[in-house]
Amino acid sequence: QRRRARQLETRNEALAWEANHDALTSLPNRRVFDETLGMWASGGVPFALATLDIDHFKNVNDTCSHQVGDEVLARVAQTIAGAVRDRDLAARYGGEEFVLLIADADAASASVVCERIRTSIARLLWDVPVPNGQVTVSIGLTVWDGEASTEVLLARSDAALYAAKGGGRNRTVVG
Ligand code: GH3
Ligand code: MG
Ligand code: MG
Repeated sequence: QRRRARQLETRNEALAWEANHDALTSLPNRRVFDETLGMWASGGVPFALATLDIDHFKNVNDTCSHQVGDEVLARVAQTIAGAVRDRDLAARYGGEEFVLLIADADAASASVVCERIRTSIARLLWDVPVPNGQVTVSIGLTVWDGEASTEVLLARSDAALYAAKGGGRNRTVVG
């Protein structure tokens, strides 16, 4: 009976992990991100929100394979997660889009974090055949001003990302 209880406990822990994480990248999922963003936007500590989108990712899938695409996603995710502090949150928002909540940050300090991540990704060496041997991301960054709602923040970050794409990709735009 004790063994059965232990099995159930292990199973419950696995289920809880799966409910909060993305299987491919092991990053927290969108649900966790939405919850965390909601909490931070109703708190008193300044933070920044960045949306990161892989550039021309469709090319990777089309000219290489879906498997290579998955490998690129996993490694980009790892690079993002490895570049942030414990109290920050890096999550997979969906597809080839990631989001980052940077605690206690203003535009200047958050830009430094985003640029560090962006250049780390651009410098990765790939042993899978990605187009031009390089993967880059565009980043839309915005800072919580103590008043903006989560919807406004997401829209601002998305508009900044759109500007980063339009400006030539592989760059961070603050909006
Ligand atoms: P842009 O630089 O403008 O962002 O172009 P893009 O090609 O990255 O953007 P687009 O939205 O056209 O394509 C995103 C692609 O991401 C299409 C979709 O097949 C792929 N994708 C989404 N999720 C996954 C996944 O889990 N695995 C793989 N391999 N591909 C995925
Ligand atoms: Mg996208
Ligand atoms: Mg993309």
